[in-house]
Amino acid sequence: MGKLFIELLIFIGSGSDNMMGKNQPILVLSEDVEREQGKEAQKNNIAAAKSLADSVKATFGPKGMDKMVVGNMGDVTITNDGVTMLKEMDIEHPAAKMVVEVAESQEDECGDGTTSAVVIAGELLKRAEEMIENDIHPTTIAKGYRLASERASDVLAKMRVKVDTDDDDILKNIAVTAMTGKAVDMDKDYLAEMAVRAVKAVADEIDGSYHIDIDDIKVVKKAGGSVSATELVDGVILDKERLHENMPREIKDTKIALIGIPLEVKETETNAEVTITDTQQMQNFIDQEERSIKDMVNKIKNVGANVVLCQKGIDDLAQHYLAKEGIMALRRVKKSDMKKLARATGAGIVASLNDMCIDDLGKAESVSERFIAGSHMAVIQGTEEGKSVSLLLRGGSEHVVDELERALEDALKVIAVTLEDRYIVPGGGAAEIEILCALEDYAGKIEGREQLAVKNFSKALASIPRALANNAGMDGMDVLMELRAMHEKDGLKNHGVNIDNGEFKDMMEMNIYEPLRVKEQAIRSASELAEMVLMIDDVIAAKGGEDEERSPPAAQPGGMGGMPPGMM
Ligand code: ADP
Ligand code: MG
Repeated sequence: MGKLFIELLIFIGSGSDNMMGKNQPILVLSEDVEREQGKEAQKNNIAAAKSLADSVKATFGPKGMDKMVVGNMGDVTITNDGVTMLKEMDIEHPAAKMVVEVAESQEDECGDGTTSAVVIAGELLKRAEEMIENDIHPTTIAKGYRLASERASDVLAKMRVKVDTDDDDILKNIAVTAMTGKAVDMDKDYLAEMAVRAVKAVADEIDGSYHIDIDDIKVVKKAGGSVSATELVDGVILDKERLHENMPREIKDTKIALIGIPLEVKETETNAEVTITDTQQMQNFIDQEERSIKDMVNKIKNVGANVVLCQKGIDDLAQHYLAKEGIMALRRVKKSDMKKLARATGAGIVASLNDMCIDDLGKAESVSERFIAGSHMAVIQGTEEGKSVSLLLRGGSEHVVDELERALEDALKVIAVTLEDRYIVPGGGAAEIEILCALEDYAGKIEGREQLAVKNFSKALASIPRALANNAGMDGMDVLMELRAMHEKDGLKNHGVNIDNGEFKDMMEMNIYEPLRVKEQAIRSASELAEMVLMIDDVIAAKGGEDEERSPPAAQPGGMGGMPPGMM
């Protein structure tokens, strides 16, 4: 692609009595922009999105391969998780960034199905490109895709099965399906069961419907030990030791002060030099410092706190005084933990000791130091305002623990989604095949060229069972034909392929199912992404000077020349 340095000409409408006169062109874009238009722009956008889809496809399904992504600082991530891969990759192409956003929102809303969404989107775009080549207008394609996507939701609505939320086995199976294929495959039963307990522990049931905030489950990673040593702990764990050996190890009926400022003597802001001439002066200076530290501790004691969690540092002397007052203190508590604890205990994070009052204190039944996973950690239990639990993740190395975290996050989220929505659909390609068949029928009933788009949408969905099978070393085409025959001729609408043993079975009976939301959203957002990318026929990008020298990202087959980052 050649770089186009263009001048955009806009003709002022005839009604205008602009100084420049009628129909005079004015320059609205500076010369420092790059621009691609028409088919060229579409082609490049499609190529970028497609290449990302191809790169995650190999990770798809239980037998998908893992990827090792090396960041520009040399940091290594090993993952089977589509969205993680995309996030770790240094993606610059604007259309490719849209793909990443879709994966991220899929992750946020459903916790799973990210690879599916990206693979389907790539497949939809690939087919759209062919249709554009055959002079079908992008608007027509987009419309056909929209129709097909709506129809897909209808089919899913017919297939869905209502779950009994008291049935922990079903919830566990959903978690197992979500974790299958991740590095922690061996321990998935144990982990799934734990995930169900964790979600149920923080779930609020109000008038028969569940409300779950996954953030109430704190995930603490501790490399070492085996994955099966992962445990669920009631309360919030902080991987911190109490600051002073004279501080109590356990406090009951706690009043917790969350302090957002350092408990230290302020360093002078300016670089003033104090010249001390005699020992008395020196003593005064020290006394003054001591007094101000003592003063801080007194303020904390006077409001009635017996536990101090400080986001910043705590001076040695302050530690000493706090210990003397029988107050347990931890320092450098993470901001995210401070927020979590503020919510769970009802505390306010204090920004000034002078303004601190009793209402700022949070309550919990106990705070204790325990020896967990080879280190001393603080456990805050029985928080007054909200239930919270912690998952302490163990595993042979940082990489294992990281991937375990991703697997468990998916598991927690799909359990929560199921409790909230209560509907599941069969996995193992069954839902996709059923939609695919329905869409072919539907296409026959549509007039005009949208018909072709609907047909292509159905073909795009075939990529899911095909990739599942291919990645497991089966013949994707054969599997596809077999499943189609089962669905179309025999009406076996829940039949899919069990990747663990290669059997074609009813996926509901095989306990391979997923939340309806995951499937529905993956297809819908893939379609929306494709529609959006298709409708772009003009890419106008500001040129960033220093970016010129940066090498193009890996995921760019055709190359976008110097298309700069930050377009979106
Ligand atoms: P995603 O990021 O889209 O969730 P995954 O790599 O997690 O991608 O693969 C999910 C797919 O794997 C789903 O379609 C699910 O139905 C399927 N799946 C999970 N376990 C099995 C299994 N035992 N047999 C067949 N398919 C399975
Ligand atoms: Mg998954």
